[in-house]
Amino acid sequence: MKNKLIVLSGPSGVGKGTIVKELLKKGGYALSVSCTTRPKRNGEKEGISYFFVSEEKFRETIASGGFLEYNNHFGNFYGTPKTFVEKQLLTYDVILEIEVDGALSVKRSYPDALLIMILPPDENELKARLLKRGSEDGKSIAERLSRMDYEVSKKSEYDFTVINDDLQTAVEEIERIIKSAKK
Ligand code: 5GP
Repeated sequence: MKNKLIVLSGPSGVGKGTIVKELLKKGGYALSVSCTTRPKRNGEKEGISYFFVSEEKFRETIASGGFLEYNNHFGNFYGTPKTFVEKQLLTYDVILEIEVDGALSVKRSYPDALLIMILPPDENELKARLLKRGSEDGKSIAERLSRMDYEVSKKSEYDFTVINDDLQTAVEEIERIIKSAKK
């Protein structure tokens, strides 16, 4: 059974982070830690949440072909480190938690990658929650909502869509999808 590159995406606030934590608890998975040029938020840890790097360093890594994919998202760069992912794939299924444009670019270079879109049971309810959330990441409400519509509009380009209504059910469904893709 070949190890899989698993890409999880979905609108902000849908619970991707919690799903990833549950998958990691089960063992057999490695999570790719991305590089970003965005400032560290409270509670985030270097090398665990992200590798926080300068734009200069990020551009150097692009030039040396160090990213499996990268994107500029709301004015900040985010990229998946290539060597780390390729090394981890020798032993584990590797999870990338990235936005849709990066995900679709992964699929172009790794057609075997498994793209899973996580969606909320009720998009309007998620929109209402996003409206209430502060603007700690510098995104305006209009930007958040239009980004959510954009992400959801790409779902047909994903291999699978999973609704995160009940956390354990969503995690089990994702595990079933991965197991059956590895057969
Ligand atoms: P945040 O700034 O809230 O941590 O992340 C913003 C968005 O960037 C999220 O949708 C997250 O999934 C995405 N993201 C995180 N790392 C990467 C990456 O390496 N590549 C791409 N393309 N998107 C990423």
